[in-house]
Amino acid sequence: MTRLLQFTSVAKAMPAKRPPAERRGDFREIYGEFSPATAQEQASRCSQCGIPYCQVHCPLGNNIPDWLMLTAEGRLQEAYELAASTNSMPEVCGRICPQDRLCEGNCVIEQGFASVSIGAVEKFITETAFAEGWVEPPKPARELGQTAAIIGAGPAGLAAAEQLRRRGYEVHVYDRYDRVGGLLVYGIPNFKLEKHVVARRHKLLEAGGVRFHLNVGVGDQVSLAELRERHDAVLIATGVYRARELQCPGIGLGNVVPALAYLTTSNRKGLGDAVPEFDSGALDARGKHVVVIGGGDTAMDCVRTAVRQGAASVRCLYRRDRKNMPGSQREVQHAEEEGVEFVWLAAPEALTGDGVVRGVRAHRMHLGVADAGGRQVPQPLPGSHFELPADLVITALGFDPEDLPLLFGAPELAVTRWGTLKIDQRRMMTALDGVFAAGDIVRGASLVVWGIRDGRDAAEQMHLYLREKAMSPSAAIAAE
Ligand code: FAD
Ligand code: SF4
Ligand code: SF4
Repeated sequence: MTRLLQFTSVAKAMPAKRPPAERRGDFREIYGEFSPATAQEQASRCSQCGIPYCQVHCPLGNNIPDWLMLTAEGRLQEAYELAASTNSMPEVCGRICPQDRLCEGNCVIEQGFASVSIGAVEKFITETAFAEGWVEPPKPARELGQTAAIIGAGPAGLAAAEQLRRRGYEVHVYDRYDRVGGLLVYGIPNFKLEKHVVARRHKLLEAGGVRFHLNVGVGDQVSLAELRERHDAVLIATGVYRARELQCPGIGLGNVVPALAYLTTSNRKGLGDAVPEFDSGALDARGKHVVVIGGGDTAMDCVRTAVRQGAASVRCLYRRDRKNMPGSQREVQHAEEEGVEFVWLAAPEALTGDGVVRGVRAHRMHLGVADAGGRQVPQPLPGSHFELPADLVITALGFDPEDLPLLFGAPELAVTRWGTLKIDQRRMMTALDGVFAAGDIVRGASLVVWGIRDGRDAAEQMHLYLREKAMSPSAAIAAE
């Protein structure tokens, strides 16, 4: 039997990372796979903590120490089954969770020794499970005769679909896009998550009987009221897509684009779609001086996409410093390796140009006193102006929800002051009976792993609701 607690003698390793010069030339994922021997060895570094902080800080509460132990012992099928029992897409989370802020960042052997490579092991056991045919479609033991509609085929909607289908409900997923996956497909670039990984989950759900209705915008082609008529319960998992706008002179110039339009176009191109916006050159960074404004994960994806498109230069302008940026430090490191220049503590003052953007006038910032939330507020430094050349400016300042009550023609849907849907936190139900909500549309822009968690929790609450509905006197009369 493999020994555990090997962290003092075995150094942390990650799967081989491709060299930056090679990465810059294509959109493939940057990490390779662990070999079975390396996965086993890396898993054996775990010290099997009595109180596993890694698990506490995983939004799914994954039983990490146990699946690391099983991996270390070579019991990979059991390791996979355990990992899959709490996570609907371990192969996705293993790739794109910001582990440095979640499980790995809280691994107790971090202090003095590097953490266990939890995400890479999670990816390894799930990829092994797919290769070995251990991953089964979500086939129920029996059909329950009730139907659920899910609006949105992103991580939250897909996690809920899987759980509800396993229970035996007829599940219909409606999405306005032509592919399944939400931001997994059209937001996150291939170098973090190749699209065949998402398509594989889509196929699996379809094989389990989940029905997908693509190119169907709820609020456009079908109303929420119609879905409530057709189905016994509805889940809203529509994400957040309204880009926050930059407020400064010159914002209307040509070649100033919002991040998601830029990334979606690039992803569509990679998928082989006809993309006139890209082919016309407007959303192609080739040969251009690119400035990305923002410091989150979306900004990191934009700078790294621009590098791969062959930009002449790529700069990221962020008003706080490196330590206080919202994006993952690991992503910043990847971007720097690939040749991105970060201009910390700087904010745009105006975009300059003659119809088309030609430059960004910016000023330096310093971090002042902390606000009520404890975060230091950036303040402009007087007389610190400078200019950056730019033929493409990408704004990545975050996202807000669409006006769903308006879009869905349902003014009763209660929203918070940020426009996210208000739910009863325990039941995950909106102000409309039988209409639940999960993912970014409730939390605001968040993470895939939280979307999965919410989708699974919402499915559980929908199940309780549907069971009660099936046992109600009106259901009994209808069945007679
Ligand atoms: P989404 O993934 O947004 O899915 C919502 C779905 O609903 C979409 O398919 C949409 O078409 C559909 N929809 C919307 N409105 C309607 C309608 N009216 N009718 C029908 N369908 C509708 N998270 C990470 O954990 N790691 C990362 O590395 C990471 N990188 C990111 C990079 C970018 C560029 C972005 C934008 C986000 C990133 N995130 C990352 C965040 C993560 O992608 C989201 O938190 C997650 O996808 C939210 O899941 P969701 O299911 O709530 O919504
Ligand atoms: Fe870590 Fe994410 Fe996996 Fe949880 S789901 S163990 S946070 S990589
Ligand atoms: Fe293992 Fe680290 Fe988790 Fe402890 S915190 S159980 S050492 S992975």
